Amino acid sequence: MIPVTKPFLPPIEEYEKYLKGIWNRNWLTNNGPLVNELELALKDYLKIKHLLFVTNGTIAIQLAIKALELKGKIITTPFSYVATTSSLVWEGCEPVFVDIDPRTCNIDPSKIEEAITPDTSAILATHVYGNPCDVEAIDEIAKRRNLKVIYDGAHAFGVTLKGKSIFEYGDISTCSFHATKLFHTVEGGSVVTKDPALLKRMAYLRNFGHDGPERFAQLGINGKNSEFHAAMGLVNLKYVDQIISVRKKLSEQYDKFVRTFQGVKPTIAPDVSYNFAYYPVIFNDEKLLLKVVETLNQNWIHPRRYFFPSLEDLPYVHQKSHCEVARSIAHRALCLPLFDTLTTEEIAMIFRIILRVQNN
Ligand SMILES: *Cc1c(COP(=O)(O)O)cnc(C)c1O
Repeated sequence: MIPVTKPFLPPIEEYEKYLKGIWNRNWLTNNGPLVNELELALKDYLKIKHLLFVTNGTIAIQLAIKALELKGKIITTPFSYVATTSSLVWEGCEPVFVDIDPRTCNIDPSKIEEAITPDTSAILATHVYGNPCDVEAIDEIAKRRNLKVIYDGAHAFGVTLKGKSIFEYGDISTCSFHATKLFHTVEGGSVVTKDPALLKRMAYLRNFGHDGPERFAQLGINGKNSEFHAAMGLVNLKYVDQIISVRKKLSEQYDKFVRTFQGVKPTIAPDVSYNFAYYPVIFNDEKLLLKVVETLNQNWIHPRRYFFPSLEDLPYVHQKSHCEVARSIAHRALCLPLFDTLTTEEIAMIFRIILRVQNN
């Protein structure tokens, strides 16, 4: 069976080395030494100023919303994973969907202004497939209209724009370190900000608002992560460059076939250093996509319709928006298998099947 992704697992001995230390210290969670070490290592690797390691990428978005004290309407994209929208609703905010740019699959900045009303407080945009949003245009609109900006960077680990980490943009950027993501800690995530005051607020939010054992500075929740998860991150971080370079080679192998394919790949801006987190293709029509999925499944190959459905179609979203581009792309997008142990022969087989269906 070839799944859409397989979590990376490092040599078990390297993880075991960390376990001995955890047993010796008998310190399992609550901002332990491995959590601190991972935060330092991530800041160093990503070349960013502040980062907090949190429970997962969804809690990261919720902490960001809370820290910025967002209320009312928040402009967001209908083409993302459900956690982007559900976090907003969970925090009592109302998502306002703005359509995407068909070339990048990211929120279209030219459509943001017309969606702003007096009760709009922020923009929450996703770097879809790790492909950066038009951050300069978004940040310019936000500054001029006095809105906060959160980037859901769940896919964007290690991505840079003009040599700078993509997590440096906006007020807060979040990332997911879930097992299926490019860099993982089994479950986990992070919040990144340049603002020390926001960092402090999120550190309190992550730990019940504790300011010492008997004082509470503010409202908080349990957004912490454990020494075991941090250990997995410390080991995996040593492999991340290698993982990215293997994925790059595999993606280039797919690219050779994609030229003869009835569809397109999202466009990545030229000044971006991409992380090859996914290999998405957008078919010319949904019928062809469904036929391809069916045939691949018959051959034990399991690509994923990602993202599907469009988030406008969630049962708890009541806004009647009409993001036709997002809906159309959600119906035609497919992520092909991509993981570090996939082989070039398997890629050739996958594309042979796709082309056979297409040319039938
Ligand atoms: C995975 C993902 C999340 C959620 O991250 P978790 O760590 O699984 O909670 C949020 N947004 C996007 C775009 C994602 O892909």
